[in-house]
Amino acid sequence: MRPKVLKIDPQKIDLELIKQAAEVISNRGLVAFPTETVYGLGANALEAKAVAGIFEAKSRPLDDPLIVHIAAREDLYELASCVPGAAEKLIDRFWPGPLTIVLKKKSIIPDIVTTGLETVAIRMPYNPVAQKFIATSGVPIAAPSANLFGRPSPTNANHVINDLEGKIDLVLDGGHADIGVESTVVEFVRDKIIVLRPGGTTVEDLRSIVGEVEVFTETGHWQRSPGRYPQHYSPKAKVKLVSDDPDQVERVLALARQEQKGGRRVGIMATGEHEVSYREFDVKVLGPREDARLCASRLFHILREFDEDEVDVIVAEAIGEQGLGLAVMNRLRKSAGPDFHIF
Ligand code: AMP
Ligand code: MG
Repeated sequence: MRPKVLKIDPQKIDLELIKQAAEVISNRGLVAFPTETVYGLGANALEAKAVAGIFEAKSRPLDDPLIVHIAAREDLYELASCVPGAAEKLIDRFWPGPLTIVLKKKSIIPDIVTTGLETVAIRMPYNPVAQKFIATSGVPIAAPSANLFGRPSPTNANHVINDLEGKIDLVLDGGHADIGVESTVVEFVRDKIIVLRPGGTTVEDLRSIVGEVEVFTETGHWQRSPGRYPQHYSPKAKVKLVSDDPDQVERVLALARQEQKGGRRVGIMATGEHEVSYREFDVKVLGPREDARLCASRLFHILREFDEDEVDVIVAEAIGEQGLGLAVMNRLRKSAGPDFHIF
């Protein structure tokens, strides 16, 4: 059954629609809602039964903890028992926004939310629909991305419906997600600040506020943050990444032609500058090379479009890892799978 879909204009929010969503939450239901990163699948974070529904709808493994979303900074202190100074500094600068902070949890949060960990991940989104929805619900909202586990995250309401039709109660359709990749997840271990997942808040921005920051790479330390499975964000096609070197175009073409000779349908994910070279293939443009922000906002949508085209292989151009480029490349490496190889 198609979930109920309520279209909301983020510039002119209809509070009646938000109230309907809040009612679903108070009845222990599931609401997909827009945030600036990707669409989230929300339930009352204080009700274990409601949260269990999230895992079920997504087929998400029970060892992959959820992020708890709040609408006001004060709510943080109800959920976390200890907030280090560096965390306060980052919150001062980046909340509301695409930054998730991992802190020692208070017992009010059921174990299922954190999959039994002593810590809880918390974020305050800036998307006005998300803010109103959380505030009106009157409880913290546990929400992972609103996709089937392992699939590319949803950046619009159609992506959500395609994955979760029949499994959730309501979708708040607030248009396209601004940033298009998930939040940056940061943890504090003694005096160290560690990025567990690069995302919408750049590492450069974090460093400008707190100085040294360590970044865990998806190859070496994925097991450090539970739920950071090596294969994730995956389209049905196999993703092959081609490194960002001067002869990138030649190598993309060689790989794509070889795949095609092998009888496979090939799609190419290219930067705008190189599009003309790939006209013989199904080519989709991520964005201009210098605009990692635009590349991030289009990434998951393009992966899903290639699935609709039923390609077998996506040959993807790597981009630079500055700014949001780091999050884009992290997602691309993960979509290529645990034994990814850069061509
Ligand atoms: P999602 O919202 O689907 O992108 O998933 C949330 C992600 O946040 C998880 O997969 C973890 O990588 C991370 N996360 C959530 N809670 C914690 C925690 N307590 N400690 C470390 N990482 C966490
Ligand atoms: Mg996710």
